[in-house]
Amino acid sequence: MRTVIVSGASSGIGLATAERFAEAGDLVVNLDLVPPAPAAARTVQWKKVDVADWAAVRSAVAETAAEHGGPDVVVANAGISVRHGVLELTEADARRVVDVNLLGVLGLWRYAAERMMANGGGVLLATASVNGARGYPFYADYNATKAGIVALCQTFALELSPVVRAACVSPGAVLTPMQQAEYSEEMLEEVNRAIPAGRHADPTEIAEAFFFLASDRAAFLTGQELVVDGGETAGATTAI
Ligand code: NAD
Repeated sequence: MRTVIVSGASSGIGLATAERFAEAGDLVVNLDLVPPAPAAARTVQWKKVDVADWAAVRSAVAETAAEHGGPDVVVANAGISVRHGVLELTEADARRVVDVNLLGVLGLWRYAAERMMANGGGVLLATASVNGARGYPFYADYNATKAGIVALCQTFALELSPVVRAACVSPGAVLTPMQQAEYSEEMLEEVNRAIPAGRHADPTEIAEAFFFLASDRAAFLTGQELVVDGGETAGATTAI
């Protein structure tokens, strides 16, 4: 049984990922600001943590290690997005996006990596996005954090190989509460039309990618971004 930490596992991609590992018999700890819905992920332990708060993240990793050993796998998934044009950006909004999405991954990986190196192994994973690979209007700060996660992944892989692997998944459009909050019915259809697969991903399809990356079947895979986007970025145009 592996000890797996997933951040942002009270909803969406994180919830599906936590459930995928728990189904396989792993011990899963969810670091999230809010608890999951009562029916969801009963097998997953929740610790109330703001991933932007490195002291809280450090304590949560230490507590998890003391209670269960590991961590063997970390999925730094918690993230937020705020739609705003570059001329509307406020410092507070932009700093929060960077604090949660980028420094929130760096802090969790940093403290987990310390344990993994001492324990002799581990896998660091994170949720980036296709938004990091090209321009998407109205998400400048978000897009920059997602590009930054790919750079973290490359750097951690170089510094920590061969003991610890680091990789990220870059989803395209996934139907989660984060995404649904931003859509009207027409927008949803319009985006679906622009995705070669003709639809959004289900969160379980992203969870499956994380489960593979964490497994020994991916033992030679490190420092890379796995794009799971229904073909959205294969062509010259973008969905949104
Ligand atoms: P979601 O809003 O459904 O879930 C995000 C979870 O993160 C929530 O449970 C929330 O409480 C938690 N969270 C937010 N801020 C936090 C913080 N500071 N500390 C701890 N927990 C925090 O969103 P989702 O769509 O499942 O997104 C998960 C990740 O996937 C994000 O990093 C997002 O950027 C990325 N992503 C999503 C999509 C998509 O289409 N939904 C596409 C690409 C990437």
